[in-house]
Amino acid sequence: MNAYDLSQLLAAEVAGIPGWQWSSSEAIDPPGTLLMTGAVYPVTYKSGPRKGRTNYGKPTPGTERKIVVTRAQRDEFFARWEQSSGVCSDCFGDKGREVWSTKANAKQWQTCKRCNGTGGVEGVERVEDPAKTAPVDAQASLFGGTR
Ligand SMILES: [Zn+2]
Repeated sequence: MNAYDLSQLLAAEVAGIPGWQWSSSEAIDPPGTLLMTGAVYPVTYKSGPRKGRTNYGKPTPGTERKIVVTRAQRDEFFARWEQSSGVCSDCFGDKGREVWSTKANAKQWQTCKRCNGTGGVEGVERVEDPAKTAPVDAQASLFGGTR
């Protein structure tokens, strides 16, 4: 699980279509808001250099959507995922990341500020494979007011 995968789960929830994926996104106002374009893409390339990758040219008819995801929706969704997985939604359990330090002219380890380098969530037991953890109650109409 990473930020990209989690944003795909969020998009599917906002779109209200299981398995829905965004294929492109653009930043719109207000800051932190994304306009996502996508569909359900069941077809992957069977051969060639893109073998195994999603074929965005072959969406399931009728699933094409443009959706708007706000920063508040993202934050709420990521927090909810943390509560179900027990994994930090910033470093995804890596406890930090390598960043380039111009001062030291070298890569340096930066401890994740969100989880203080634990990779987890305080008070929440970490599940074995967070990738398999569906967000809690995806059917709950948290975005009901906007539909
Ligand atoms: Zn973290």
